[in-house]
Amino acid sequence: MKPVIALVGRPNVGKSTLFNRLTKTRDAIVADFAGLTRDRHYGNGRAGNREYIVIDTGGFEPDAGSGIYSEMAKQTRQAVAEADVVIFVVDARDGLSAQDHDIANELRRLGKPCILVANKAEGMQSSARLVDFYELGFGEVHAVSAAHGQGVRDIVDLALESL
Ligand code: GDP
Ligand code: MG
Repeated sequence: MKPVIALVGRPNVGKSTLFNRLTKTRDAIVADFAGLTRDRHYGNGRAGNREYIVIDTGGFEPDAGSGIYSEMAKQTRQAVAEADVVIFVVDARDGLSAQDHDIANELRRLGKPCILVANKAEGMQSSARLVDFYELGFGEVHAVSAAHGQGVRDIVDLALESL
């Protein structure tokens, strides 16, 4: 069985861009509009000779009561259930948000191993904004740039090593 990695995070943090990096495809819809990729989306990836499956998810809004957001939250929970390890993506440029806290709490409840990744970190001179993300309680904050491919291989290796 190939290990399964789920990408989870609020809309617009760069999950689909990371998915494309991890699977080396352009299958995921990358959009400037938050929450466009509403359904789960599967792809195959490879690191050296290790193969894995990646699940891209739409947004994640645990507190929303109805409509598309609750459907997205359900889809994401299912993706987490299917995963061996979760990559929890936050936005290094936007900084820590209330939604990140909600997602962190939900991920804790679901109990899967998580790797916390701060995306859009290219060209960031200071890591001051990254320090806040330690509050989420997932240990090390891994800075990456999905758009530029920086740090991506490292987090895949970490995810696969954690299994
Ligand atoms: P998703 O909603 O989490 O799937 O996010 P997307 O992958 O659709 O990306 C949302 C926006 O962030 C798009 O405009 C991307 O081009 C942009 N983006 C994604 N990764 C990076 C990155 O590493 N750096 C920067 N500066 N922008 C990024
Ligand atoms: Mg997306």
